[in-house]
Amino acid sequence: MNNLVIPILDARSVIPPTAGDEPPGPFADTRGRRLADLRISVTDRCNFRCVYCMPKTVFGRDYPYLKHGELLSFEEILRIARLFAERGVRKIRLTGGEPLLRRNIERLVEMLATIPGLELTLTTNGSLLRKKAHALREAGLQRVTVSLDALDDQTFRKMNDVDFPVSQVLDGIAAAEEAGFSPVKINMVVKRGTNDHAILPMARHFRGSGRNPGHILRLIEFMDVGASNGWKLDEVMPSAEVVRLISAEMPLEAIGANYPGEVAKRWHYRDGSGEIGVISSVSQAFCSSCTRARLSTEGKLYTCLFAQRGHDLRALLRANKSDGDIEAAIGAIWGARTDRYSEIRTAETATQEKIEMSYIGG
Ligand code: SAM
Ligand code: SF4
Ligand code: SF4
Repeated sequence: MNNLVIPILDARSVIPPTAGDEPPGPFADTRGRRLADLRISVTDRCNFRCVYCMPKTVFGRDYPYLKHGELLSFEEILRIARLFAERGVRKIRLTGGEPLLRRNIERLVEMLATIPGLELTLTTNGSLLRKKAHALREAGLQRVTVSLDALDDQTFRKMNDVDFPVSQVLDGIAAAEEAGFSPVKINMVVKRGTNDHAILPMARHFRGSGRNPGHILRLIEFMDVGASNGWKLDEVMPSAEVVRLISAEMPLEAIGANYPGEVAKRWHYRDGSGEIGVISSVSQAFCSSCTRARLSTEGKLYTCLFAQRGHDLRALLRANKSDGDIEAAIGAIWGARTDRYSEIRTAETATQEKIEMSYIGG
């Protein structure tokens, strides 16, 4: 990945000093978008080989995953997270790869939970949730999102491509609920021709399920992340079509966002039996309100999911730079941000070299 790193020079020269004793404000980019969310990838490894994310043809036995010493340690992650929180980040999502594969992940959660005013969440494929849900909750994790692409075993096994049974993910969701996570969000990536027939069964299953508030199914358009998933526009099912399909059987009504910049558009069932979300990253770009940064497993900062280059924060940490220097570097990176990939996506950009989602964090 080293060829994909932008060197960080003297960031202090780009950040104006804060006047007087005023607390420093949040960072804003060239379009005035604040830095408000951070996704942290804690491992680039996964026990699934989802066809849209880590296809077996690319992520085979010889794939050069990061070595242990290359990963950010928990202490390094905590230090960076604190600096982000001090500059206005209010939400941190742990992801990967499969975050529950990182040894002692609950210890990291416990450490991050000491940062005041932070919403701490995690996205998982659910395979290890039965084992981990309780410890994660005890450690201070507030929310969990579980990815699940179909309810029928045949389709699910085809999507995860490692023959993993759907029953174990459903049991993981039950474990999350028992541990006190509510609502649980369920992420379903829709790939036309592969699992679009699973949309209605998924909607029927999760509608009205879970404790009040119930589980929230979120249907995600298949994206051209990375450079290995063979993305084609005709395999994207636009969210508008997904909503029409569900609404024809279970009438839906649009509802407002929970907070400005929320990625999922919310719809609730007219009969009051819960809500769903749709994430239209391809058909309706939301770059203009994108407040998310991503920290890769080895400590590179990415300002867009479709970035080709990251910025090496680990080098600053390991060169014993001060908090002020690192904060200034983050500010300079975010201040120079111009990203709007989804607004300018074409068949050509889709084939460009991009960082893989399992490395950068979904
Ligand atoms: N392994 C965990 C999981 O699957 O939940 C966390 C990492 S995964 C990269 C995070 C999210 O990205 C998952 O919900 C996954 O479905 C989604 N994702 C991965 N590849 C995608 C793609 N090509 N298009 C849309 N969503 C994708
Ligand atoms: Fe693994 Fe998640 Fe990617 Fe599937 S989507 S391969 S579970 S990282
Ligand atoms: Fe944000 Fe980049 Fe996605 Fe646009 S394409 S919404 S800038 S991550």
